[in-house]
Amino acid sequence: MHSHPAYAIVVHGGAGKWSGQPEAEVLDGVRRAAAAGLARLADGEPALEAVIAAVCLLEDNPLFNAGTGAALNSEGEAELDAGVMVGEGLRSGNVAALRRVRNPVLVARRVMEATPHVLLAGDGALRFARAQGFEDYDPVTPERRADRQRRLAARERGEDLPTATEPDADTLTRGTVGAVALDTRGGFAAATSTGGLTLKLPGRVGDSPVPGAGNCAGSHGAASATGQGELMLRFGTTRAVCEMLAGGHHAQAAVATVLARMGSLFKGDVGLIAVDRLGRMGIAHNTPAMPHAFAGARLALQARMRG
Ligand code: ASP
Repeated sequence: MHSHPAYAIVVHGGAGKWSGQPEAEVLDGVRRAAAAGLARLADGEPALEAVIAAVCLLEDNPLFNAGTGAALNSEGEAELDAGVMVGEGLRSGNVAALRRVRNPVLVARRVMEATPHVLLAGDGALRFARAQGFEDYDPVTPERRADRQRRLAARERGEDLPTATEPDADTLTRGTVGAVALDTRGGFAAATSTGGLTLKLPGRVGDSPVPGAGNCAGSHGAASATGQGELMLRFGTTRAVCEMLAGGHHAQAAVATVLARMGSLFKGDVGLIAVDRLGRMGIAHNTPAMPHAFAGARLALQARMRG
């Protein structure tokens, strides 16, 4: 065992092309999120506090597809999915297709802490949020409205619809956000938040609020996924990563192996981050880019567009 606590955090801002995006601002966003989480870990706070702090900052940043600036569904509404998981006791709270809150990840945390349930959806999730004191908030930005109009016009012209993760250069490529952390006591947590895929059907739920699909933490590691959520739901992507971490694999080997396994079954965008018991990180994606940042007790804070 290492005597020095190996705390670490990794965050991502969504797998995609990210072409034509303000790269410096995007990298600044993930860097600040990782720094916020790192500060909690360095203070000895639990991994849960670190991933929540990181994801809240990214939800509030309109550059990313989560919270403010979330992608809109076919009816022009932002339906938000978010999940948190704590390795110890495999505790998890999640919200799906939740409307009109500022920080869905905080509502997901309340589901974990204040209910016997794991996942609340739609109107029930909204009523729960209000009962818990989360105020009415409109996360829709003018950029997202304009993006939706462009895509609807393309659909009317009979052109193929770019999805949130396969955008044209001139459409928004802003991605889902996620964070994974290892704390000074060896505990893990993961948090993931998204507006899902642009022009998705109302009521569509992706992988982010489903433990083991888009978000997972165990006693040997944690993982967060981004990309076409239907694939992660079918594969059980982050569970597969966590099982590899429990088998003693390096975080990088775990995410690379799971990405390759998925690639042999499906075509589609996937991005993964993970952290293992030694505070080592894993970064893998099959998209041109996936902004991410990482930092830890033995790891200087770094932000990159691709792994
Ligand atoms: N995984 C998210 C979803 O399918 C989307 C994304 O990561 O961009 O809802």
